[in-house]
Amino acid sequence: MLEKFLRHIAQTSDAPMGLEVSHAEGPFIFTKKGKRFIDFISGIAVSSLGHRHPKVIKAIHEQVDKHLHVMVYGEFVQQPQVDFAELLISNLPKKLEQVYLVNSGTEATEGALKLAKKYTGRTKLIGFKNSYHGDTHGSLSVTGRDVYRDPYLPLLPNVYFLEFNSDKNLDLIDEETAAVIMEPIQGEGGIIPAQKEWLQKIRERCDEAGALLIFDEIQSGFGRTGKLFAFEHYKVVPDILCIAKAMGGGMPIGGFVSSTKIFQSFKYDPPLNHVTTFGGHPVSAAAAHANFKELLSGNYLSRAVEIEQTVKSKLKGKGILEVRGMGAMLGLQLESRELTKKVVEECFEKGILLGWTLHSNTLIRLAPPLTIENDLLNEVLDTILEAVERHS
Ligand code: PMP
Repeated sequence: MLEKFLRHIAQTSDAPMGLEVSHAEGPFIFTKKGKRFIDFISGIAVSSLGHRHPKVIKAIHEQVDKHLHVMVYGEFVQQPQVDFAELLISNLPKKLEQVYLVNSGTEATEGALKLAKKYTGRTKLIGFKNSYHGDTHGSLSVTGRDVYRDPYLPLLPNVYFLEFNSDKNLDLIDEETAAVIMEPIQGEGGIIPAQKEWLQKIRERCDEAGALLIFDEIQSGFGRTGKLFAFEHYKVVPDILCIAKAMGGGMPIGGFVSSTKIFQSFKYDPPLNHVTTFGGHPVSAAAAHANFKELLSGNYLSRAVEIEQTVKSKLKGKGILEVRGMGAMLGLQLESRELTKKVVEECFEKGILLGWTLHSNTLIRLAPPLTIENDLLNEVLDTILEAVERHS
């Protein structure tokens, strides 16, 4: 199987983990050889309620028995889309009134950028160094890491990058700027939260310049940081909010959320500005609705905060320079690449899945399911500590 996988599935790395998945349940992934892994990255912040949450599975089954795809996005009234959208919007600030559903994170970014350009009639875009917004051309154009951009130049013109958490060059946000796009907590950049006052300053600068502020909460959304959305920590509301990943409880779905007034600009010159065949697929939307209902009804948000407190108080010691992040979106800053590699490898051998972030090789990403119980959490943290101490 591994040999066929390597032969027929196009690879983007020379060293895929190659874990042969048999099934997954709650915080665990089981391999074909019967080995159990504790999933401490949740497929990169996707299965936040654990794998195969029973309520999500039930909603999927019920929808499969009614209908699958019936029409391109936005033409027919489909109950799961409407149910999800109503629940989402009722839990967001007033100016986030409508959601456009897509299939993935990068499509949410693409849609948000187009919407901002169309609404403002401007083309200039501002991103941040070390950001990540997806791998399609528009998203890559606002992703702030040259090694990933350079092979694909030219990308979108008129894009400028600012330093994250720095007041330098904020005057680049000007009357020609369509949008500023950012992650309130940079994920792939190394789990770096924005500073509160700085984020508020960016909001003010956008308001002065008439530029839209886009928050990419594709990774930080749906409870991962201890709030439904990370922007709640900052009391800064974006004009457009991008969502995906944990949204579908394991099913592919994304969206971008904005005001009715801003979305109005998608309807004319020409009509059908932005169309998708599968966006908001009814089975994914049904899963998203069940997932969101469960997230709202359980104590998941406070659990994310407890996870943060446990990790931050426990993971101190030789070799760990810093534990960063919010809720269950955390990063362990280690001293070297070698140490990071050894710790990730040793934990893998011991049945614990940890991850790297795309733009850092000295940071271990921790993104456990919010459902993880204390025994399991402590077992993982003890194993990480032992590994760090052994290899430091
Ligand atoms: N934005 C952020 C902040 C992300 O973390 C990711 C995925 N890592 C994306 C966008 C892209 O999402 P997708 O892989 O679903 O296209």
